[in-house]
Amino acid sequence: MKKYIILNGEKIYPSKIICVGRNYLKHVEELNNEIPEDIVLFIKPNSSITDKIILDRFNNIHYEGELSLLIGKELNHSDIPNIDNSSIKGIGFGLDLTLRELQTRLKSKGLPWEKAKGFDGAAFFSKFYPLKDDIRLDNMDFSLKINGEIRQKSNSSYMIFKPFTIIKKILEYFSLNENDIIMTGTPAGVGVLNKGDLLEYEIKNILSGTLKID
Ligand code: ZN
Repeated sequence: MKKYIILNGEKIYPSKIICVGRNYLKHVEELNNEIPEDIVLFIKPNSSITDKIILDRFNNIHYEGELSLLIGKELNHSDIPNIDNSSIKGIGFGLDLTLRELQTRLKSKGLPWEKAKGFDGAAFFSKFYPLKDDIRLDNMDFSLKINGEIRQKSNSSYMIFKPFTIIKKILEYFSLNENDIIMTGTPAGVGVLNKGDLLEYEIKNILSGTLKID
């Protein structure tokens, strides 16, 4: 069954999710990664989309809170010079869920991370909200609290690659379909999820919500 997200109460079916790795300096440092020379991209399949997190099937799932963009129209390599707010139709809060131990093991062997990043339920999304013309994507505050305590708090101005640059870099390799999602990378403060955790997420002036981990 195809998975969907919600925009304006309507079901939207993304064909893929393209994620940016290592896009905030402090997060690169907390995982002891190298600062990337070029953008790090990976893909989660439609089957990884979820609106709830249940810990029964996988152990040791880590959260990465991320600003997530819903692509508004078909884009390919020839659209690179023309990327602007009209390329994006919605914004949401996403959790790039990660099997960190598995990812570390695969990375150390030089193997692809897919199992650690693309498993069933690896991409949680809030409801998406329409992108208004006056929104500055490169200056958005967002945060994630767990059990009342701030764990991640940042602003998109701290991104190494900003949203329009991310889309241009993606289009060098991948065409985008309308309704594909881009996860723009996580700031510092990632960690493990536990049963019973209450997550509160916010993109300032746009959306907020809660999520209980079962
Ligand atoms: Zn991430």
